[in-house]
Amino acid sequence: LLTSGGPLYDAEGRFKGAMIAMLDITERRQIEQMKGRFIATVSHELRTPLTSISGAIALLLGGAGGDMPEAGRRMLGIAQDNTQRLQALINDLLDIERLESGLLPLKLGVQPLLPLLQRAIESNQPYAERFNVSLVLQPLSAELHLICDAERLLQVMDNLLSNAAKFSHAGDSIVVDCRVIDDQVQVQVTDQGVGIAIEQQSRLFQRFFQVDDSTSRKRGGTGLGLAISKELVERMGGSIGVDSQAGQGACFWFRLPLAGSPDRSMP
Ligand code: ADP
Repeated sequence: LLTSGGPLYDAEGRFKGAMIAMLDITERRQIEQMKGRFIATVSHELRTPLTSISGAIALLLGGAGGDMPEAGRRMLGIAQDNTQRLQALINDLLDIERLESGLLPLKLGVQPLLPLLQRAIESNQPYAERFNVSLVLQPLSAELHLICDAERLLQVMDNLLSNAAKFSHAGDSIVVDCRVIDDQVQVQVTDQGVGIAIEQQSRLFQRFFQVDDSTSRKRGGTGLGLAISKELVERMGGSIGVDSQAGQGACFWFRLPLAGSPDRSMP
């Protein structure tokens, strides 16, 4: 039950009584749960055939079907790209449902930050090269440790770095740097790309939100990445945000708890 209420006064300000409103939201909850289960089941069922489609495409591209004309390889390449996009969308949908229903377990531990950021940069390099954009990691102390789930932190970094590359101009650089603020470490991904108007910024972290411009539409995506990143960072005890202006690039940052020394800082 959702309840709200308050005192009632007459025109002279004299207390006349109280009003209480109660709203039964059982049905709304049940519908939400059904929707969640539906998304989880459908996504799961779609994953299995997609895995075998992408396996078959990879085998054909690897030469399993004998020599193939150039046009055939090109078409298989298109099929492979789109299969990967579908797989990414399904994984995002599954993640958001699991996060919302509290079914995504996190493996929190003390992690050194430098190798994590190096891995993130390395694995996003090929994607950045597609847009002719370079990724730069500013020097940081190898001593910095934070408390997080390493794989989930990499997922957040993948999202921020791929967005930064997608919305950059050819020839731009994307800079990753860190600073310690009180008992947290702030990681920043700064690009020189199209930027985001102030009035759009509060909605960026909502599900399925995409800035309604031609770049977002042209460059694809689902509008789920930032919503997932926000849930993940918050569940790891941190916060996430953006500083930007239209046309002036964007700086996406997140903060996570710093680990002073491994034995003292485990939650
Ligand atoms: P997706 O990238 O799949 O569309 P996200 O949730 O990651 O979904 O991002 C939502 C939207 O936020 C993007 O579609 C884009 O409009 C905007 N956005 C995200 N990152 C940037 C960035 N670095 N520069 C400009 N716009 C961005």
